[in-house]
Amino acid sequence: MNLRCDLHSHSTVSDGTLSPTELVERAHEKGVEVFALTDHDATEGLKEAAIAAQKLGIKFVPGIELSVTWSHQTFHIVGLGINPDDAVLNKGLMALREFRAQRGEEIAQKLAKKGLDKPLEGAKKYANGEILSRTHFARYLVEQGKAKDIRQVFKRYLVKGKPGYVAGKWASLEDALSWIHGAGGLAVIAHPARYKVSATRLRQLITEFKALGGLGFEAISGSHSAEEEDRMARLGNQFELYISKGSDFHSPENIYRELGYLQDIPSGSKPIWHSEAWKERIGAF
Ligand code: AMP
Ligand code: MN
Ligand code: MN
Ligand code: MN
Repeated sequence: MNLRCDLHSHSTVSDGTLSPTELVERAHEKGVEVFALTDHDATEGLKEAAIAAQKLGIKFVPGIELSVTWSHQTFHIVGLGINPDDAVLNKGLMALREFRAQRGEEIAQKLAKKGLDKPLEGAKKYANGEILSRTHFARYLVEQGKAKDIRQVFKRYLVKGKPGYVAGKWASLEDALSWIHGAGGLAVIAHPARYKVSATRLRQLITEFKALGGLGFEAISGSHSAEEEDRMARLGNQFELYISKGSDFHSPENIYRELGYLQDIPSGSKPIWHSEAWKERIGAF
């Protein structure tokens, strides 16, 4: 009933530190049998990961984590089982990247005012490709001795109200879901307990998400506590969403949770791989 699966992870294509191949190899070592790569706003790692997974005999689910602005706040929507070559999706991703580049310059200007030396060059040193993330700025700030670790950097510099914060202007919820569905994927609300919103707002988000055809709710997340996982699973059940699980693994040095080290989907919830859409588009296990 419960798959040894991990349906949320990041590679060097976005803000992770392992290449897609290294990530799949690590997942395999940790006993993961069904694995999704879900880089932020990028599909470039999916082909490499699929090849690595095929060699090792693990089932690979091509995914993405889209940045969304809803009600003036940032939310993340995971797409599972997407076609990486879908033209409309890729056009949407280009716009998100343009915003990332522009936001990067603004963040850099703000950090330079705080006395940080060459922030843009510094952050880009940690970025591998098209995606410039706050995580890359965070790594540079740690390198420069501005904080002891990534978590502390975010708290001091990169979140709302702090000197390096720039508000997001990401995709609308409607666009994000239409890109995912157009590319043949299933949409999942990522790490729902992480958002700093009231219970009412979260319910509104879920209601709109469902109205747009959204199916999944990542109650089991490497960034949730056990209490949050139980609470989110109950919330997902109330809205008749299918429950997903993923570590949100970024790097071996900075572990919230190891690849695949996740609790089972609670017995009263419906795992996303039991949905008809999953069976049709991703396959039955
Ligand atoms: P961005 O999409 O560039 O705004 O960056 C968001 C990413 O930053 C997330 O996917 C996380 O990997 C990371 N992040 C956000 N908040 C924190 C935090 N408080 N501590 C550590 N990493 C964080
Ligand atoms: Mn990230
Ligand atoms: Mn996220
Ligand atoms: Mn993530």
